[in-house]
Amino acid sequence: MVRAHRLRLPEDRSSARLTAATLALCVLATAGVARAIWPFSTSDGGEDLGPRAAQLLAEMIRYPTINPPGDEGMLADQLTARLRAAGLEARSIETPPASGGGRRAATWARLRGSGEERPLILLSHLDVVPAEPSEWTRDPFSGEIADGYVYGRGAIDAKGVTTIQVMAMERLAGRETPLRRDVILLATPDEETGGLAGAGYLARERPELFENAEYLLTEGGSIRPRQPHLDDRVTTPSMWGVTITEKSPCWLAVETRGTPGHGSAPRRDAAVPRLLAALDRVRRAETPVHVLAEVEDMFLALAANASAEDRAGFVSLATSLDNDPAFRRRFLANPSYNALVRNTISITVLQGGSRTNVVPGTARAEIDARLLPGERCEDFTQGIRAVVADPEVEITPILSFPSRSSPADTELFAAIERVAKRSDPNAIVVPRMIGGFTDAHWFRAQGIVAYGFVPRWLSGDDARGVHGADERISIDNLERGTLTLVDIIEELAAP
Ligand SMILES: [Zn+2]
Repeated sequence: MVRAHRLRLPEDRSSARLTAATLALCVLATAGVARAIWPFSTSDGGEDLGPRAAQLLAEMIRYPTINPPGDEGMLADQLTARLRAAGLEARSIETPPASGGGRRAATWARLRGSGEERPLILLSHLDVVPAEPSEWTRDPFSGEIADGYVYGRGAIDAKGVTTIQVMAMERLAGRETPLRRDVILLATPDEETGGLAGAGYLARERPELFENAEYLLTEGGSIRPRQPHLDDRVTTPSMWGVTITEKSPCWLAVETRGTPGHGSAPRRDAAVPRLLAALDRVRRAETPVHVLAEVEDMFLALAANASAEDRAGFVSLATSLDNDPAFRRRFLANPSYNALVRNTISITVLQGGSRTNVVPGTARAEIDARLLPGERCEDFTQGIRAVVADPEVEITPILSFPSRSSPADTELFAAIERVAKRSDPNAIVVPRMIGGFTDAHWFRAQGIVAYGFVPRWLSGDDARGVHGADERISIDNLERGTLTLVDIIEELAAP
């Protein structure tokens, strides 16, 4: 269905500037849905940074780069054209298309430095997860700007990241003296389904694009704003979470076979009951609690902001989890905390028969297990096989890669700390681990120090829209985020 308002002109463009030819070029017919695609605004170097960032983000959101299939090619081209117009060296890099999809590409741009030190990469992704319009109060792909916010799928994850990184590149391009490092911008396709055809492909096949880079900044960490403390009514400082490591996926397929037949005559070896019995054993399995040094340090840094009840537990997490049963219960009841101290198992996909009266010959499930850094998927799979204890149930990994960590004692981390203290003298800068994964691991594997950190002040309310409804980011965040990222890069690389 064609929705009339998708074809509305953006308010800041006069219709006189659009020729019929441009219009024809700009309307993409994808899967029967006409979508208006507008050429991007260009940087005019003016001081109205927030509104210009909001406009760029809104323009990006109007490209419905839902993955699969992504179709990020046109968006990558628009971004490339904009960066060139700002005087930067920029190109679109072709990447493999998804089956049934259109063109895919990444935007690569470079701001040349003096070369005295090794490059810094700014990484983001152009694809988004789907949005269910009936759950949203606004159109997820119209890039609506209202009440000081830009609304739309990708506003935070991750077109808002791309926006801040592009605006920072353009601002740095206006410097009189060159930085000591090249700054390389890379906005990739295919992050949301694992990055194999995006960052993974580029890291593997096109290493010349970021050869010799020393540092990388990407999504995965932000700033928790200063807030009044719940217990004692004092203001707690802002918390800058810099992600230095991530858990790694160990996704498993669980398959059973049995004799097919009629539902009226059940057999002992039917596939579905056998699968259910196996999954029931997996469901009941408890993985051991294991506090890594990175996680112990993270909670120590969080202790100052913790409730009075939890503070002592956070100060020495491993010991408290061992010795304080009440604290252990409270801590493990929080799903995000629980995921930081153990391997987790989610049973997510279930496939069996399709007719009530037909016994299917096969049944299949998928498990999303996430492992702590240092654990191997092969060992974990062996453990699951032992829990299931049924040789007729086949368990095979479908996605896994080893987790890697970046050190926190680096120049880049120190630069973030100095900028944090200037912004809020009491700020706490926390090296952290996250339960999800980003494209950072492809670059850690190449020896690059990669941090999940983009300066954005996100409250719990702001973060709720990520992969959910009414995703949005404030214009203030886009502006402060850009200025703060510029500060961090200058702190790291200005002569
Ligand atoms: Zn993302």
